[in-house]
Amino acid sequence: MNIAVILEMAASAGDRPAVTEGGRSLSAAELQRLARHAAARFRDRPAVLYLGANHLAYPVALFGAALAGIPFVPLNYRLGDEQLAALQERHPGAAVLGPEDLDALLAASGEAGWQPTPDDRDATAVILYTSGTTSAPKAALLRHRHLLAYVFNTQDFGSAGADDATLVALPPYHVAGLMNLLTNLYAGRRIVYQTSFEAADWLATVRNERVTHAMLVPTMLARITAELGENRAETPTLRSLAYGGARTPRPVVERALRQFPETGFVNAYGLTETASSICVLGPDDHWQALVSEDPAVRARLGSVGRPLPGIEVEIRDEDGKVLERGATGLVLVRGEQISGEYTGTRALDDRGWFATRDRGRLDDAGYLFVEGRADDTIIRGGENIAPAEIEDVLLQYPGVREAAVLGVADPEWGQRLVAVLVGTGDPADIRAFARRHLRSSKTPDLVVFRPELPRTPTGKLLRRTLVAELEETADA
Ligand code: ATP
Repeated sequence: MNIAVILEMAASAGDRPAVTEGGRSLSAAELQRLARHAAARFRDRPAVLYLGANHLAYPVALFGAALAGIPFVPLNYRLGDEQLAALQERHPGAAVLGPEDLDALLAASGEAGWQPTPDDRDATAVILYTSGTTSAPKAALLRHRHLLAYVFNTQDFGSAGADDATLVALPPYHVAGLMNLLTNLYAGRRIVYQTSFEAADWLATVRNERVTHAMLVPTMLARITAELGENRAETPTLRSLAYGGARTPRPVVERALRQFPETGFVNAYGLTETASSICVLGPDDHWQALVSEDPAVRARLGSVGRPLPGIEVEIRDEDGKVLERGATGLVLVRGEQISGEYTGTRALDDRGWFATRDRGRLDDAGYLFVEGRADDTIIRGGENIAPAEIEDVLLQYPGVREAAVLGVADPEWGQRLVAVLVGTGDPADIRAFARRHLRSSKTPDLVVFRPELPRTPTGKLLRRTLVAELEETADA
């Protein structure tokens, strides 16, 4: 069995629209016919590259590759020509498919001369390049069994309501965009693709397409809350709004909860190597965190919730010793959906644990608090400082819209804290504000403003880029 079984099951469940983009829709049965034609074209190729934005051609390419039994490799089409060429060179002989190929496939008539390949749950299903926020992008490899485990453990087949529709604005080369396609197709929920994200357009699409579910990265959620301002969203059909892929500042979540009072919020935490979400904070937890008198429950709005079915989480110290609840250390995870594999190397230990490279802690009830990448930890005068806590405080200062706290090389302290902000405010007053909320060792040594912060398309802060720029200016 490989992931093509998802399309086969969906196709047998009726002929409702399964995917919509730009006013055009395809049912699962039509998708299956096109994927078979695509698979016939992919014969004898080592892999299929997808180059393009969200489009009806995307599921065709994914399932075409699955039917042909070869890996699917969606590339970030927004990369520069040189970077893109370098990635393509890593897949010599691969077939390339994009939005411009759909019409030719649609025109192909009859049944394709496609031959089913032997089922292989262990074969490579997709190769995804990670965002490369901490190092050069890594080619994470996910096998069919990892993707199937995620879909089967988190969804019930055909469980979606007849009018359910999910809006996907996440890029097609990101693990969350890929898994959204598989889970929604399996659940029987129509997928509405948005090619590029724009807040007003997103809100209009939710209304016009009567969207019931959506998933966003934090920068998208922040833009939507800014677009709404003091208004409530007029999105009566929207039942579930998931966000994640990077840390979302608490003020953004609180504002969104007020703007979408009828919608259930889900914070999803995961990595490319874990086939998307491994922990989620559900709607009830969000509301309880707002109304509870218990500080531990209120604090959970800053957590990523509890592990999904079949996932275990452990916090360990640098020597691999498992830490008690409450202690901060490295986050390790284990479960059927976790590949922890890159082309050429495997990062699982003997007992199947994968080291996420994130630092975090578990509270008494098992909620995971992720402090961010271990590599982002700042060491100032020998003290380990996680930037997240300071950034959250700075974001509470009126006028500050975005915040990045970085460790910049310093002869006296090893690293000093520099806060780079987007918005308005007086730097001296902002430092005084931070000092009122934080220990002096965590108060930024310097506060500077920038028109914008460098981020990946999925909203991850490019900390290394900023540090390099700041150190260069300091040297000059
Ligand atoms: P690279 O490994 O090349 O640096 P990357 O880490 O950006 O790339 P991804 O796999 O897309 O690649 O990112 C996973 C990371 O994103 C997690 O390890 C975590 O730090 C962060 N993350 C994801 N979801 C959340 C979330 N809901 N809350 C906080 N952080 C999150």
